[in-house]
Amino acid sequence: MARTNETIIIAGAGIGGLTAACCLLQAGRDVEIYERAPALGEIGAGIQQSANATHVMRHLGVLDRLRAVAYLPPVTEFRLFDSGEVLQALSLAATHEARHGAPYLQLHRADFHAILVERLEALKPDCVRLDAEVTGYAETDDAVTVRLADGRTVEGALLVGADGIKSAVRRQIAGENKPEYTGDSAWRLTVPVERLPRGFLDGKSSIWVGPDKHAVVYFLRGGTLLNFVAAIELDEWIEESWTQKRPWAELKAELAGWHPDIQTIVDTVDRDECYRWALNAHPHLDRWHTRRAVLLGDAAHPTLPYLAQGAAMAVEDAAVLARSLSASRTVEAALALYARNRMPRTRRIVDESRDNRRLFHLKSVDELRAAFARRNMDRERSNWLYSYNPLDVPLA
Ligand SMILES: Cc1cc2nc3c(=O)[nH]c(=O)nc-3n(C[C@H](O)[C@H](O)[C@H](O)COP(=O)(O)OP(=O)(O)OC[C@H]3O[C@@H](n4cnc5c(N)ncnc54)[C@H](O)[C@@H]3O)c2cc1C
Repeated sequence: MARTNETIIIAGAGIGGLTAACCLLQAGRDVEIYERAPALGEIGAGIQQSANATHVMRHLGVLDRLRAVAYLPPVTEFRLFDSGEVLQALSLAATHEARHGAPYLQLHRADFHAILVERLEALKPDCVRLDAEVTGYAETDDAVTVRLADGRTVEGALLVGADGIKSAVRRQIAGENKPEYTGDSAWRLTVPVERLPRGFLDGKSSIWVGPDKHAVVYFLRGGTLLNFVAAIELDEWIEESWTQKRPWAELKAELAGWHPDIQTIVDTVDRDECYRWALNAHPHLDRWHTRRAVLLGDAAHPTLPYLAQGAAMAVEDAAVLARSLSASRTVEAALALYARNRMPRTRRIVDESRDNRRLFHLKSVDELRAAFARRNMDRERSNWLYSYNPLDVPLA
């Protein structure tokens, strides 16, 4: 497709930017992505995608590819940190797909990202410019001029800021949005399953809840790799960066007294491969767009990962943005339609993710038992979270 003044410029080739590019190209628009990094890729950790996101993957023609490299968990169990007592379970696998019409997948981030890149290249080869950091933009009623860090400028019809949690595009649209440290920092690690006892955790996903901390355990790549994340309350500030390592002994000490299965995971991990990152909360934005620039994904609504929905929201955004552009006569009307429809849903997800921090970290076993007894997570999430289909939800 030749470049025209109608070209849509996307800042960032993360899961949000790639999905947006594919949705827009499939809708017949021209797209270019400008990515700051010198190479495309994702970190070596897991990511969960529920039906509200996997509908879009089917629409993009990549669902079977993703399914082939994913793990489809039978259930996610909420368990007490020390005894392992099961407090509640979410039905996944066949039940999730039968209820919502699309599967619940647990994926290696690098696989997910690579499959989206493959699809993008099939739709438009050379769509991505690397080493291209977007620093800002100027706009008129008809066009946007995007500035890059190396001094170049690029003209287009619309700039989509999919440039993540520290978004430069957001700074211009909404001003400084200072992160606030939540008090939690997340360990993330992976362990090859061959190192673990046979039938470890029966292949089930689990969320282990306990005073001031919780841990999430699930499998990837057809069950051959285990993904572990532990969110632990910690006064000390750690950089909000996925690539910072911390000493294994710190992890071991912080999970002392936890269930033997958790100890098995901690004891089997490569000791120099323990990453940790600070989890920040960001205030909700009142403004997601100007005349010719708009935000998507973490740039618009960074969240705590306690509903496993950050990237899923970015995927939903991508589908609704493409639909809004197709349904509107002007770009400005499309951006208003998109923001009007996406803001309430993403706010709810961000708020409920934050509420889960309180629930998962209650101070005693009795409080945890009582709080979980009052809830039915399976029904709640089915009713509003997983049942949303961004491809056909009515746009108000
Ligand atoms: C511990 C943890 C577990 C999680 N688990 C899940 C889960 O199970 N399910 C789920 O859905 N979500 C999960 N998330 C959230 C998910 O990782 C993010 O919401 C998602 O990656 C956001 O995607 P994005 O494309 O908006 O941003 P990013 O992935 O941050 O991508 C932004 C891209 O923009 C580029 N960029 C940045 N600045 C510029 C610039 N100025 N110019 C050009 N390019 C730029 C970056 O290099 C990057 O490639 C989790 C998060 C954490 C911390």
